[in-house]
Amino acid sequence: MANDGIEACQRCGRPFRVFQIASGVPTAREREPITCPYCDHTIERTTHGVWQTHKLNPVDEAAWLAEHTDNRSGQSQPPRTIAEVNKDLSTPPRDATEAEGYTELYQLWREISDRLERGRFGEVDFSRWDEKVKALLRPQERERLQKPLRPHVPLSVDTIQYARNFHLIKILWARQGVENFMTDTGY
Ligand SMILES: [Zn+2]
Repeated sequence: MANDGIEACQRCGRPFRVFQIASGVPTAREREPITCPYCDHTIERTTHGVWQTHKLNPVDEAAWLAEHTDNRSGQSQPPRTIAEVNKDLSTPPRDATEAEGYTELYQLWREISDRLERGRFGEVDFSRWDEKVKALLRPQERERLQKPLRPHVPLSVDTIQYARNFHLIKILWARQGVENFMTDTGY
């Protein structure tokens, strides 16, 4: 499961960073808890020390999810594009159709992504945000926006804002014509 120290919670599906820290005293390998920093779901794994977990920032989280969502064809795209894409996202695409509403959508994505770094929107602010985004999207994009974070993780009060953040960044990638990720599963 471990992949560069980042793994996904088996319950909520969100990725987090996990690393072991020495306990200070030499100990035998023992089973120690690894607790999801989002939903507190806990598993155990052996270590000489103890496990610590940290949340990812929203951009890293979206990038990780994009890279690690099941791809049934078995072909994964080179992740190097993610850094390039994130860097270029502020510039609207050249194509006039793709550029329509793009700057506003980009700002709304920044808004939720910054917000998620330090918590999340309250209910009223979130539905206001959600309406603004939906009004700027084409019907297919709107459908896409409303998907859950991952196929097996249902939308709930706890997951909806992260799912929106994730799918909105992917819509921006698609408008830039650089979305090579997950075309096989629709995620
Ligand atoms: Zn979790």
